[in-house]
Amino acid sequence: MFDTLSDRLDSIFKRIKGQGRLDEKAIQEGLREVRLALLEADVNFKVVKTFTDRVRERAMGQEVLSSLTPGQQVIKIVHEEMIDLLGGSQEGLNLKGPAPRVIMLVGLQGSGKTTSSAKLALQLRRDNHAPLLVPADVYRPAAIDQLHRLASEIDIPAYPSTSEMNPVDICRDALEKARENGQDTVLLDTAGRLHVDEKLMDELARIKEVCAPSEILLVADAMTGQDAVNVAERFDELLDLTGVVLTKMEGDARGGAALSIKSITGKPIKYMGVGEKLKDIEAFYPDRVASRILGMGDILTLIEKAQTDVSEQEAQELEDKFQRADFDLDDFRKQMRRLRKIGSLDSLLKMLPGAGKMREQLQNVQMPEKELVKLEAMISSMTVTERSRPQSIDTSRKERIARGSGTTVSDVTQLLKNFNQMQKMLKKMGGKGKKNTAAMPSD
Ligand code: GDP
Repeated sequence: MFDTLSDRLDSIFKRIKGQGRLDEKAIQEGLREVRLALLEADVNFKVVKTFTDRVRERAMGQEVLSSLTPGQQVIKIVHEEMIDLLGGSQEGLNLKGPAPRVIMLVGLQGSGKTTSSAKLALQLRRDNHAPLLVPADVYRPAAIDQLHRLASEIDIPAYPSTSEMNPVDICRDALEKARENGQDTVLLDTAGRLHVDEKLMDELARIKEVCAPSEILLVADAMTGQDAVNVAERFDELLDLTGVVLTKMEGDARGGAALSIKSITGKPIKYMGVGEKLKDIEAFYPDRVASRILGMGDILTLIEKAQTDVSEQEAQELEDKFQRADFDLDDFRKQMRRLRKIGSLDSLLKMLPGAGKMREQLQNVQMPEKELVKLEAMISSMTVTERSRPQSIDTSRKERIARGSGTTVSDVTQLLKNFNQMQKMLKKMGGKGKKNTAAMPSD
């Protein structure tokens, strides 16, 4: 899914991340490449323009956070804007209102309507609904048989329509039957054509009028790119869609339809088909899809963590302490905990794509993680007074601390020596503590 687009964006971002400083020119250059990548992915040109304009505006005006490199900031902005492009938050089916509710599936022939009807029925049953499948495509005789076959495969009832019947009558009668039989959701598999035509639209409009569907979902083939977007626009004009099911997403390397439909039609993608089997359907989560496109779900979690971990207040408190040069072992421990909360070095490495090799190489190297654990154990074995007045720690106290923390007296001595030096340095700075001294190291 989205392989071509992902690869392109990945190489652009690698370059952006590699630059320590990002000036206006570098951002412009990076965004020009992003623009080209999106256009090549067959994203609608108007959508691409709005997207890059917004990213540019935010990237130029960004507040550079001490814990992030500017490159990461730009990527984060691209990710956020991409989520927005894909629809913002996930939108499920509207199943409110009195049963039976009607879900009408519309779309061109071959888009995957019949298959998607059965896929959705399966999802609905899993969510404790009682669906009824209604084959209403009388023009393609195989469609009725196909849906009956799929329905019996998953043991979900299907209305016994035949190709001699009128589609509007089928839908009206099926709705009546569902009411009688206690089926709470009716899925109408309507007729498709090779192109949008007036006769078909009239028929769909009549079905809409008679059945008052709570959902009119356009089923569109993602592989057709901008054609799918145009079809969505046409169907929306005539039927006022409530959402889109984008099929064959697993084979779509470019992502143009997924990235354009919401912006162009204003209608959300609610589901995506990811294979021919009936289980191959997923609710469409814009954030997860954006992460897939950018191949960076875990890295974003990491950035998010770094950002939220240093709260403004905490950073300010520590800065004040630095300024007064009364940073004690307790504060030192707090800092270490913060560092460890972000994750052990090992788990951080696991989140980075392609870091497997690096982890192998590091296996025999002593991890700073172990050092941190040791330091924390020593500080935790001290009394409150010892932590705030480390100079009160004499040899017998050192022995007790070493025993309590499973370390040696020389480990404790080393810690106190380092800490003493740090304090001296702070005093020498004479309260000229710089802003962000307490922030996490970047990268
Ligand atoms: P309809 O004419 O709109 O009813 O389309 P069908 O449901 O008959 O689907 C047309 C073809 O697309 C069939 O071969 C389906 O198996 C296939 N298809 C539907 N959805 C997907 C999907 O998400 N992925 C893949 N790979 N194939 C799909």
